[in-house]
Amino acid sequence: MKAEIMAVGTELLLGDILNTNAQYLSRELASLGTEVYYQTVVGDNPERLLKAFSLAFERADMVITTGGLGPTDDDITKEIGGKYFELEMVENEDAIKNVMDYYNGREMPESNKKQGLIPKGAKVFYNHNGTAPGCMIEKNGKILIMLPGPPYETQPMFEEYVLPFLKEKSGFTIVSKVLHLSGIGESAAAEKIADIMSKSENPTVAPYAKPNEMIFRVSARAENEDNAKDIMKPVVDEIYKRLGDYIYGEDDCTLEEAVVKALEKKGLTAAAAESCTGGLIAGRIIDFPGASKVFIDGVVSYSNESKIKRLGVKSETLNKYGAVSEQTAKEMAEGVKKALSADVGISSTGVAGPDGGTKEKPVGLVYIAVSFNGNTTVKKLNIKGSRNKIRNRVVTEALNLVLNVLK
Ligand code: ATP
Ligand code: MG
Repeated sequence: MKAEIMAVGTELLLGDILNTNAQYLSRELASLGTEVYYQTVVGDNPERLLKAFSLAFERADMVITTGGLGPTDDDITKEIGGKYFELEMVENEDAIKNVMDYYNGREMPESNKKQGLIPKGAKVFYNHNGTAPGCMIEKNGKILIMLPGPPYETQPMFEEYVLPFLKEKSGFTIVSKVLHLSGIGESAAAEKIADIMSKSENPTVAPYAKPNEMIFRVSARAENEDNAKDIMKPVVDEIYKRLGDYIYGEDDCTLEEAVVKALEKKGLTAAAAESCTGGLIAGRIIDFPGASKVFIDGVVSYSNESKIKRLGVKSETLNKYGAVSEQTAKEMAEGVKKALSADVGISSTGVAGPDGGTKEKPVGLVYIAVSFNGNTTVKKLNIKGSRNKIRNRVVTEALNLVLNVLK
């Protein structure tokens, strides 16, 4: 089945909002094996929207729209969708209920009544997160699915109604596994499994590079879930065999989750002393709920004075080697570990820019350290980019270092 994604909204054309719905839908459809050849964006204009439908259905069997299902005059997607299929708009009980439920006894604006109208014969998708019901028209071998615009309404509706519909239609099930890697670059990782990727058809193996992250997604297709898992298993096992040292988690696992779980598993606590990251390492760890079991404290230690007073860094060290040095990073990690009675001490010190770089210590030079079990591991980084990019990369590198030290 060929599908086309159509985002409706003048706001999108003006650049006021980003078309994240298209990204979401494309990704979902790709994992279902549904081909998407076109994504369209069209404004809230009846003639142009009708034209866009004609064009889309010339090249696709299914069109999924988002946006334009609201109560205002410029919300026209349903009407024009109905018009394209020559269906009149009729009052629909489920749709009216959806709008009424949302108002829950409060007085409903007159304009919302229009949301109770849908093209005759369309199937209604109940919106649990807003007033606008979605709907689906199936006619003459073509399918039109219309979803609301706000992503927190689009996505749950897609998952509840569209996903099961498409899975059933395709006649097979797709199972995917996402493997998260750290501590290895994209090309190095891809090289190690190049042969697997090049001959991968079912399952498919594809790399995704996100900022500071390396991901492989393995997807298998079969008539049922068990068979898909069977098809996937040997390939996943082989990837673990070759890259297992770098894989820190599967599916929705984040780096901070992996760090918290690794600490928890060993019954350890951690504390961080941060200079150039100014609390970002602590913040990232605390992003994961459950961090309170393992993360006890963080010190933002920006000045030399603070490094001496709060962390016990020696003034000779700072005089001799400077704040941005292997020695200072080491003493910071050891100092915070001791000062806060943690099992693991983490530190960062560096030149985040844009000013303050010198020939010996250029912008992007950063030292991170992890102190654990009588040993302190220091890593020197040279990162290119903006202040923000440098600081965020440092956080990722520091979390990686913790994972490696705990291995
Ligand atoms: P509402 O009932 O809120 O009016 P709607 O279905 O009519 O919903 P729109 O009016 O088109 O949707 O858009 C409402 C909001 O949804 C937009 O202001 C925007 O925040 C978000 N939105 C719409 N389309 C997209 C899109 N393609 N990608 C991401 N966000 C979107
Ligand atoms: Mg609207």
